[in-house]
Amino acid sequence: MKPISDIFGLLAQPRNIVITFHQKPDADAMGAALALYHFLIQFGHKVTVISPTNWASFLTWMPAAKGVMDFESQTEKASALLKQAAWIFCLDFNVLNRTKNMEPVIRASAAERILIDHHQQAEIADFDYGISDPKKSSTAEMVYDFIIASGGADKINPAVAECLYAGVMTDTGSFRFTSTSASVHRMVADLKERGLEHSIIHENLFDNFLENRFRFFGNVLLNRMEIFYEYNAALITIPQSDLIRYNIKTGDTEGLVNFPLSIKGIRLAAIIIDRGDERKSSFRSKGDFDVNEFARKYFNGGGHVSAAGGKNAEPLDVVVKKFKAALKENKEALNS
Ligand code: 5GP
Ligand code: MN
Repeated sequence: MKPISDIFGLLAQPRNIVITFHQKPDADAMGAALALYHFLIQFGHKVTVISPTNWASFLTWMPAAKGVMDFESQTEKASALLKQAAWIFCLDFNVLNRTKNMEPVIRASAAERILIDHHQQAEIADFDYGISDPKKSSTAEMVYDFIIASGGADKINPAVAECLYAGVMTDTGSFRFTSTSASVHRMVADLKERGLEHSIIHENLFDNFLENRFRFFGNVLLNRMEIFYEYNAALITIPQSDLIRYNIKTGDTEGLVNFPLSIKGIRLAAIIIDRGDERKSSFRSKGDFDVNEFARKYFNGGGHVSAAGGKNAEPLDVVVKKFKAALKENKEALNS
């Protein structure tokens, strides 16, 4: 993988560009991609953002989100665009299998792949250019750095600023996590000086849910949460029947895993959701328990030291058993 600075000199030449990110994008993936979109179109590039799957409705307020293509529902059109692309920007993921059914189409395209990502253990052999930095707070921060380093600061318009802010704010837990460096605050100060209105973004992201989501949360906290004090751990298990009963849509379960992490003494919180086609897990930790390694070892996943996820093909009860066995194996680390 060549350094991303190698493409700075090529930005002025219009070309066909696709921007993509991991399946079921969060606000960092979508925000980083749309910020980059609003930056690149100012050079005259033809840019399309393609999501591997659908996304949460709390992301649809972002400028140009309506133009994002869903690979699963528009497979043919999206495949043609991936094939014609000269560049494919890969944001907020670093292993191609996180694009789910899009992976073979990306691999078959002759396009150069450009990585911008902050997850651990990138498969850099799969990318032509890029930057991988697990110390960075968010991919949005890295897109900001990219814009500044390439000399494009004057192209940070309100659309770019809003999308960048959504990504960095959510991926830092509203500027709470240890990844919130001084440079994150400097970036936000710069966006503010360029006219960013931040409070409406919090409202768009956090105050737009439907009642059913909170009824569902009530049921989860009452009936689906187990605490394992001997391991300082907690597990939420969600059967598919709950998702149907409460009419749960993509994005509605986001944040749920953080609840048990607020319980005194709990250092590892996990959620396992039966999505039907796969069992999706999320892990969060306080202190130095490494959930990236944990997700990699037992749940075909990865991520960051204190936030990671995975997926399993086995039935829900088997995955839950696996988690409980993993707690036993990690007893010492969870108690140290
Ligand atoms: P979440 O639990 O919110 O889905 O994800 C937490 C973090 O782990 C995110 O940074 C996400 O990109 C990463 N992550 C989630 N699921 C997977 C997975 O299946 N594989 C890998 N490599 N990373 C994941
Ligand atoms: Mn991210």
